[in-house]
Amino acid sequence: MIEIKSPEQLAGMRAAGLVVAEIHEVMRAAIVPGATPLDLDVIARRELAARGATSNFLGYGGFPATVCVSVNDVVVHGIPDATPFRDGDVVSLDFGAVLDGWHGDAAVTVPVGEVPDDVARLLVDCDDALWSGITAMKSGRRVRDIGTAIEKTIEARGDYGIVEEYGGHGIGTAMHMDPHVMNYRTRQRGPKLVPGLCLAVEPMITLGGPETHVLADEWTVKTDDGSWAAHFEHSIAVTPEGPWVLTALDGGAARLAELGVPAAAARRG
Ligand code: MG
Repeated sequence: MIEIKSPEQLAGMRAAGLVVAEIHEVMRAAIVPGATPLDLDVIARRELAARGATSNFLGYGGFPATVCVSVNDVVVHGIPDATPFRDGDVVSLDFGAVLDGWHGDAAVTVPVGEVPDDVARLLVDCDDALWSGITAMKSGRRVRDIGTAIEKTIEARGDYGIVEEYGGHGIGTAMHMDPHVMNYRTRQRGPKLVPGLCLAVEPMITLGGPETHVLADEWTVKTDDGSWAAHFEHSIAVTPEGPWVLTALDGGAARLAELGVPAAAARRG
């Protein structure tokens, strides 16, 4: 079942997305040498409560925290612990919220202090791949077009591993809904993108191979070859005016303008 939102329901999705965007900003500012993943969980709990929102991560399948913190060769689903961030680390922050029954979900990977050039490029290229996927989210196109755009961007940028075991998803009255959104070109074209469809798009790439494994904690996903990984995600609505990046503070307006794509945010905020 694919959930299609009315314009009024999309306003609810945007409110939830803004809560996610705002809390992401607070957490990002706290990613400094010596801070710990557990600090980010404390911040997330406090900021959710301050906004009357709740966590969609905490308790999901038994997940013990409000945020996934994945450092260096951890791709996704890192459980916050007390290991301090060190200069040169890369930290992926995956965090979502529920407001008035509507879910938002976003992720970003940030460097701690200075990182080598190839690592800095990994982050830029993964983020650019996400945004190329977003530009494909025009009404009338297909879910496959998103993965195709992501894969093309990644392949044009370098010899990265594209993680295939995990991908994006529909989002709305639940965090994970149909359809699944692959980060690579698929044979099946997938459902049509229609106004009111909301998707979380989330490419994951590595500096090495695409193979991953799950640790004994049953959550932490690491690369098999120890290569470092990046993960970027936004929740986006398809609208007649273009993609509306629900979890971006500006609705995606600035970035989509750079990419020459009409953005719903220009009219909707
Ligand atoms: Mg997600």
